[in-house]
Amino acid sequence: MKAGDNAIRTTCPYCGVGCGIIADSKPDGTVRISGDPDHPANFGRLCSKGTALGETIGLKGRLLYPQINGRRADWNDALDLVAKRFSAAVSEHGPDSVAFYVSGQILTEDYYVANKLMKGFIGSANIDTNSRLCMASSVVGHKKAFGADTVPGTYRDLELADLVILVGSNLAWCHPVLYQRLEAAKQARPELKVVLIDPRRTMTAELADLHLQIAPDGDVALFCGMLSYLASKQILDRDYIDGHTNGFAGAIAAAGVFDVEVLSKQTGLSSQDIETFFTWFADNEKTVTVYSQGVNQSSCGTDKVSAILNCHLATGRIGRPGAGPFSVTGQPNAMGGREVGGLATMLASHMELDNTRHRDLVQNFWNAPTIAGKAGLKAVDMFEAVLDGTIKAIWIMSTNPVDSMPNADIVREALQKCPFVVVSDIQEDTDTVRLAHVKLPATAWGEKDGTVTNSERRISRQRPFLPPPGEAKPDWWHMVELARRMGFAGAFNYTGPAEIFAEYAALSGIQNNGSRDFDISALTDTDAYDARGPVQWPVRKSGTAEDHRFFAEGGYYHRDGKAKFVPVKPAAAERQKTGAPLILNTGRIRDQWHTMTRTALAARLNAHSGEPYCDIHPHDAHKYLIGDSELVVVENDLGKAVLRARVSPAQLKGHVFVPMHWTDQTSSCGRINVLVPPLTDRDSGQPASKNVPVSIRPAGDVVYGYLVSKQKPDFAAGELAYWALAKCSGGWRAEIAVPRTVEPEQLLKSCGVASGSEDTVGYHDRKTGQTRLGLFDRDALKWAVYLSGRPVMLAREWLCEQLTVSHDGFAARLKVLAGKPDLNMPDKGALVCACMNVGIHDISRALHGGHLTVSAIGEITAAGTNCGSCRAEINKMIDAFKQQTAIAAE
Ligand code: SF4
Repeated sequence: MKAGDNAIRTTCPYCGVGCGIIADSKPDGTVRISGDPDHPANFGRLCSKGTALGETIGLKGRLLYPQINGRRADWNDALDLVAKRFSAAVSEHGPDSVAFYVSGQILTEDYYVANKLMKGFIGSANIDTNSRLCMASSVVGHKKAFGADTVPGTYRDLELADLVILVGSNLAWCHPVLYQRLEAAKQARPELKVVLIDPRRTMTAELADLHLQIAPDGDVALFCGMLSYLASKQILDRDYIDGHTNGFAGAIAAAGVFDVEVLSKQTGLSSQDIETFFTWFADNEKTVTVYSQGVNQSSCGTDKVSAILNCHLATGRIGRPGAGPFSVTGQPNAMGGREVGGLATMLASHMELDNTRHRDLVQNFWNAPTIAGKAGLKAVDMFEAVLDGTIKAIWIMSTNPVDSMPNADIVREALQKCPFVVVSDIQEDTDTVRLAHVKLPATAWGEKDGTVTNSERRISRQRPFLPPPGEAKPDWWHMVELARRMGFAGAFNYTGPAEIFAEYAALSGIQNNGSRDFDISALTDTDAYDARGPVQWPVRKSGTAEDHRFFAEGGYYHRDGKAKFVPVKPAAAERQKTGAPLILNTGRIRDQWHTMTRTALAARLNAHSGEPYCDIHPHDAHKYLIGDSELVVVENDLGKAVLRARVSPAQLKGHVFVPMHWTDQTSSCGRINVLVPPLTDRDSGQPASKNVPVSIRPAGDVVYGYLVSKQKPDFAAGELAYWALAKCSGGWRAEIAVPRTVEPEQLLKSCGVASGSEDTVGYHDRKTGQTRLGLFDRDALKWAVYLSGRPVMLAREWLCEQLTVSHDGFAARLKVLAGKPDLNMPDKGALVCACMNVGIHDISRALHGGHLTVSAIGEITAAGTNCGSCRAEINKMIDAFKQQTAIAAE
């Protein structure tokens, strides 16, 4: 795309890949989004979420003014009240009676000011971030092994490697552009092998030469086994081990003797697969191990990271082109938060809270009256302290813990009981914002100005291209104003993000001289800030431009400059003692982000998965009497969720998968984190969100339904057994279920849609039990509802489009009631390609027409030709089609 005069280079606000974006504002108020061809993270690529960013910047639902107890207030009154309540809590109950819970969505400058205020001026380390839920185990694993939280490699390493191991990572959906880079590298060099280690057969498996469907938390045993295997075969880099590491013998002793039969039992993998995997690792010097939430979100996450790092240290495969361990982060600025000290366990600029020299250095640099002397409360502990009354005042910044934290109902209860809750957010109504005493409007992506760091240590600018709406203000400004009102004006005298960043950069270089990994002291020039391009740290004043990988020649950050092998035993992970028969794994889906507060604003992103679901193996579905597309209750001692069952062999037997995105705003009972216990890794405090004991049962005797409506339905006061609501092209779509006893009139009330006798058309078929009703205003469809005793088969996307077209005459209205287009207007089916609006039936028709490659299907349908996020899904359809064709031919 040719960028116009108003084009601004900025960075995507979603995942940790950190893609560069060109945002081009048009005279009609729309913004054209494209990938920045010059950004080294994506070279012009974007995924479906990034591509749809222009559809998420409207002001509907935005929090535009400060509010106190639900009433509009001015900024002075709101901030005076916040300062008064925080100061009172500190003076009456001490600094640890207050807390900030912040977010990987905020910018580095926001993080820096919040961290400085809490740790250096309030005097507590009670600031933690939702990134705790995403990668805290990697942080601890890095620090144990390297002496610092260093990501040694770069994205380029995935393209240079001969073997890429993806552990607990659905890269195709969660880091799509990185997946696309890997896919392109494999296409160019088919000998590049990819191994996927994941209990689920995700879309990422489409790229894998070997998929190891490992038992939950079996990764510790697998990588301990790998270390024993490498030692037994003498596939070790002795020079590297002797020259640059300590503790090898202890790690080998802890890992035990290599025994493939034992390992097979510990991991649930076949001996043959284990040997294939280990042989590939042994044979490929250029190996990159990418790990993500499947490793981190575990009660033994830190051990998993240590076990992986041990294998790379033992072979010296670290910091070399195409070789190294690689933690990829979930959030756009999880790395920035780590660097700036946004975690309760770290100080600013990768300095340590338990290091007196570091504490003195930071305190002196800040000219602070105090400095936190011990780690603060990690996320789960923080909300427990809110519940038990230890924390009297909490400020939640740009995150939605009522839905995203484990034990989510208890988090809600804690905030309901908390004497003083401040929430700064861009949305007026989230499940967390509802509980705030004071609501403060924040600037959103497109309005914000600052920096983020991606998974490969690359700092990029987020630049504004829209004016702040209403009275929205940046997060750093909120913190500065609080600091001033708490009596610390002199140290928070910033006029903008450039000054904050310059101070932060200067701090990173103080008494550093290469003793700390994080050093951006060459970036203190405020005049250069605005135009600065993406830059990978370290950027030392004295450094060279080639410093972009760490540790190929040692140079670790433990006192002796060596890495430490961490002894890890292949023990079984901690499990809750419960009679629940199934294991719940939670995670992300392709087109949604976190609790959907932004992505759900783009209709096309809702078309891929329009409701919360539960993937279950056919064997378990049969065992628990669950049919495909029926509603199920997934539950345990903590709570329950009502979800759509999707029977799928992609699940292991005994396992179910549920996405983590749905909230009380978008579904009747889809908050899956209600079921996740507050069980955490003992070192990192990261919750175990992927190994949760649950039971499953059919949701009961209901009538299933589908509703499309121009107006947003209101289900709050109704009698629906289930609903899931999403924006669609012409208005709103909802999956619903109704108790059988509910009459049609009651149903319409329950849906919050008006009935009207004259323009209502409909029928009830006694034989099939189907009811269909539609309300028209002249030739426009206002709403239509379809009910059936079985899950309703309809052309859902086509029905959404009917809200936007004319239906002149009775015959046209009847077609709407039929729920599908005429034969001469083929239904595209559920959306696969969100960019080009291509559905599953379109692709199926292309397959039947003999188009059997992704590019051939792209040529005929345009699917997969824009962002490429759907290419793995199309590949899967091609494989399934070929299999079916082969079976039919036998
Ligand atoms: Fe954004 Fe997608 Fe790039 Fe992630 S991969 S940064 S979500 S465009």
